[in-house]
Amino acid sequence: MPLEERTLRTTGTECSPAWAGDAGAEALRRRLRELEEAAAPLEPDAAARAELRVAAVASSERFLEKLDGLKVFDEDTGTGLGLLEAPISEVGIGLDNVMDLIDREVVLPGAATASGGHLAYIPGGGLYHSAVGDFLAAASNKFAGLFFAGPGPVRMENLLLRWVADLVGYPASAGGNLSSGGSLATLAAIVAARDAHGLCGKDLSNTVVYLSEQTHHCVGKALHIAGLAEIQRRHVPLDESFRMRPEALEELVAEDLRQGLRPWLITAAAGTTDTGAVDPLDALASIAEKHGCWFHVDAAYGGFFLLTEAGRLALRGIARSDSVVLDPHKGLFLPYGSGIVLVRQVATLAASHDYSGAYMQDVRTDPGETSPCDVSGELSKHFRALRMWLPLLLLGLRPFRAALQEKLLLAQYFYREIQEAGFEVGPSPDLSIVTYRWVPRGADLEEANRFNQALVERVRRDGRIFLSSTSIDGRFTLRMAALSFRTHRHTIDLAVKILREMVEAGAER
Ligand SMILES: *Cc1c(COP(=O)(O)O)cnc(C)c1O
Repeated sequence: MPLEERTLRTTGTECSPAWAGDAGAEALRRRLRELEEAAAPLEPDAAARAELRVAAVASSERFLEKLDGLKVFDEDTGTGLGLLEAPISEVGIGLDNVMDLIDREVVLPGAATASGGHLAYIPGGGLYHSAVGDFLAAASNKFAGLFFAGPGPVRMENLLLRWVADLVGYPASAGGNLSSGGSLATLAAIVAARDAHGLCGKDLSNTVVYLSEQTHHCVGKALHIAGLAEIQRRHVPLDESFRMRPEALEELVAEDLRQGLRPWLITAAAGTTDTGAVDPLDALASIAEKHGCWFHVDAAYGGFFLLTEAGRLALRGIARSDSVVLDPHKGLFLPYGSGIVLVRQVATLAASHDYSGAYMQDVRTDPGETSPCDVSGELSKHFRALRMWLPLLLLGLRPFRAALQEKLLLAQYFYREIQEAGFEVGPSPDLSIVTYRWVPRGADLEEANRFNQALVERVRRDGRIFLSSTSIDGRFTLRMAALSFRTHRHTIDLAVKILREMVEAGAER
């Protein structure tokens, strides 16, 4: 039987009396040697490692060197279907073929989210330094879930969390977790809030959560996953800048109390996804305090603007929250897969997540260091601290502050220029998102909506920049979100130029 076929057979059939006696022991040793040889490709030697590394670096260089000239959305690059033509089989397909598939079917199709021209949704860019951090994290494969096994990764995660907690203004009792993103960070916060208030099945239908029409959908998702779908929801009315009106919240809470209901959670945004609006956190915190509600702030988009003076002013009051979520893959420009949850009393997060098993009886804890597995839904986890720590340590904070200040000013700049170009604008930006639309002369709501929908599609097909839209009070509205470290003034000038051109071309049709 050829080796490959034999390797495929499960050991179950081989774990038999055939290995009995001296002859059996010899046969067993022979078989183990064969299997060791067959598995040898899993451990490349120094030369093979160099070959892999050179090929990987060459691929990323091919991409980064042409990134500036790439379409930010290129429909001609397909949808990665070529991947399906390379099925997983018994033998590998070789380094060149693998790299070719990555270049052609993975890196190019879809949106070039690494591009500075990515002004849609919430960009971030993806720092190269973090890619190197990920490489090192994977190469050492240190265990980041438990202090006992990975004291370095866990200290690193905890010191990053402490740094962000200080930025937010949280006390020493605070702690949290590096998650895969804002959505799962939000889930952890919601679960902590649920358990801190002892909510269970019988309470749900008379318990109330306060949010707004602009609340990110991950809050609703988290409530559902946390078993709280039956809870009552109140949408707090917004002012003309899409910020929650504190006096309206106060009235809602008072009315719910009169009805004998149980106000539980107030969720505010430090930068909504749609418009970048920052809720009046200080006033909302006072209401939460007065009524004993858990106050959660979604700062996934806006949180790292705390590194700027203007951001600190806009986010005043965030320190009074019970939990907060930030996304380093947005405001710290990390690659996707990095979120943060912080809870004012880390003990509440631990109360919801601290579990163990008999197979963990050898684990020793360090009273000074929280283990990530005790405050999150994960046990084994990606060593994601390194991708955040490495750029911060290597570069210092100065370039991050500068890039964030630049984004705030780019939004101000776009807000001016787009009005100059004749567009109708939404509120003056709180952070780095601007909403706007073109209203053709004499057009009614439907006609204006159709025009702007066609406009955003035309811009995407053109591909030089990538914008997205939203719907606000029935108005099809365009957004410009500046948050990539690669977005600069020339990008914004180009965006305005393209929008002008498209409107002129469209107006003739
Ligand atoms: C992006 C975002 C989220 C969700 O975060 P993910 O990292 O995409 O899971 C939540 N809230 C706001 C305000 C966001 O901008």
